[in-house]
Amino acid sequence: MKPVIALVGRPNVGKSTLFNRMTKSRDAIVADFAGLTRDRHYGSGKQGKHEYIVIDTGGFEPDASSGIYREMARQTQQAVAEADVVVFVVDARAGLSGQDHDIAQYLRRLGKQCVLVANKAEGMREGMQLSEFYELGLGEVHAISAAHGQGIRGLIELALNDL
Ligand code: GDP
Ligand code: MG
Repeated sequence: MKPVIALVGRPNVGKSTLFNRMTKSRDAIVADFAGLTRDRHYGSGKQGKHEYIVIDTGGFEPDASSGIYREMARQTQQAVAEADVVVFVVDARAGLSGQDHDIAQYLRRLGKQCVLVANKAEGMREGMQLSEFYELGLGEVHAISAAHGQGIRGLIELALNDL
């Protein structure tokens, strides 16, 4: 069985862009508008001789009965349940949000293996502005840029480590 990596995080942090990097495909819809990806997407990727499955989350059909946030939460929970390791993506430029705290609390409770990454960190000085993310209580914060392909190899190594 290939290890399964779930990408979670609030809308617009760059999950689908990271998914495309990790799978070398463009299966996920990358949108400038929050939450346009229609459904959860699965892709496969390979680094060296290590193969893995990636799940992108955050897609939802706006549904008046369940509400957008409930549907997003449901998808995230499903993906996390299926995953061996969770990559929790936050936005290095936007900083911490209430939704980040909610997701972090959920992940901490589950106790699942988790890698915290601050995306959109291209051109930012090492450590600058990332210290606030330690508040999430998930340990080390890893700076990456999904759009520019920075830190992706290291992230995949970390995620697959100890599985
Ligand atoms: P998702 O909602 O979490 O799936 O986020 P998307 O992958 O759709 O990206 C949301 C927006 O952030 C898009 O405009 C992307 O081009 C942009 N984005 C994604 N990764 C990066 C990055 O590493 N740096 C910058 N500056 N923008 C990024
Ligand atoms: Mg997306």
